[in-house]
Order: sequence, then C-alpha cells, then structure tokens
Amino acid sequence: MGYEIRTYGDPVLKSQSLVIENIDDKLVRLTDAMLDIMYDAPGIGLAAPQIGVQKQLFVYDIGDGAEVLINPVVVESSGEWVYEEGCLSIPGLYVEMVRPKEILLKGININGEEVSVEADELLARLFQHELDHLNGVLMFERMTPDQRTEALAEYRRLTEALDDPSGAREKIKSQEPKVIKLK
Ligand code: ZN
Repeated sequence: MGYEIRTYGDPVLKSQSLVIENIDDKLVRLTDAMLDIMYDAPGIGLAAPQIGVQKQLFVYDIGDGAEVLINPVVVESSGEWVYEEGCLSIPGLYVEMVRPKEILLKGININGEEVSVEADELLARLFQHELDHLNGVLMFERMTPDQRTEALAEYRRLTEALDDPSGAREKIKSQEPKVIKLK
C-alpha cells in the first residue's frame, strides 16, 4: 500500500494517536515504510500520523542511524534552546522557536524492549516535535501569535500558487524555504 506524507489541513494531523499494544510483522513493515518515506522526503524524523496512521510511533535519524520509538513519553525536560524548526507536513516553512534543550524520553523499541533516551539540542527538539504529532499538535500551535499570522499567510501564499494542491509537498519543496523568525 502506498503511503504519502499528509500536509497541513489534513484532519489526521490533528488527531490523537493510539497506544500500540503489540509489535507484529505488520508494525515492522510500517516502520520500514516510514523510514523509506522519511529518507526520500528527505527528513530527519517522521511520525505515524504524518502518513495517516494514528499510532504512537515515530522514526528518526539525525545521522547516527535509523531509530524507531513506540509509545514515547517525556520523563524530564530542562533548559531552553532556540532552533529553526521545520516539518515535512508544513513544507516550505522554518520557524524559529524556543523549547526545552534537554529531554529524557522513555519508550519501546522495535524489539519490544523498554528504552530511555537522553537527548540534547537537535535530537531533543526532534523528539518534542514528533511527540507533538502523536498528540495532534502542529508547529502552528507552538508559535507566537505574530509568528502564526505570518506563517499561515506565507503557507497560504505557497499553496495558492499551485494548481493541484494534492502534490503540494513536492512542488513547495522546490522553492526557497521561508524562515519565520522570533521577534
Ligand atoms: Zn512535523
């Protein structure tokens, strides 16, 4: 079955994902498909709802190899870090945002083992971003009101320029990305 990356406006991106009860072959195939889609995009993280699957699962690779996290929860967070965050579901926009710098995340790996991961900076940001997806939260909800106004106008401008919105991601990708700064 062919999956594709859902973009802003698709209701699945606003849905709460369900806890995964068991890890079977079907789930393993799903994570393989998610990794293929993520690398192909290209991106460094992808949450299941971004391809229309309402399950608490995300995949990532920040250069240290492919990883899968199932039913992740944040145990601790600390500090503050500013980063220009992007999202495969909101192509063409990068948004400067403050979030905790360090995160301790617990979850289950693809072998069904409990894992905890200490993450800093980019990885911590990725975890927080993907966790938001599992709770139906998009970057727009993390922006300041001024940034949200600017980002929504910019995204509307990007998508309005397209004659066929269904291929939006591919077409927007080829344009110069827009950075929404913190003011
Ligand atoms: Zn995202």
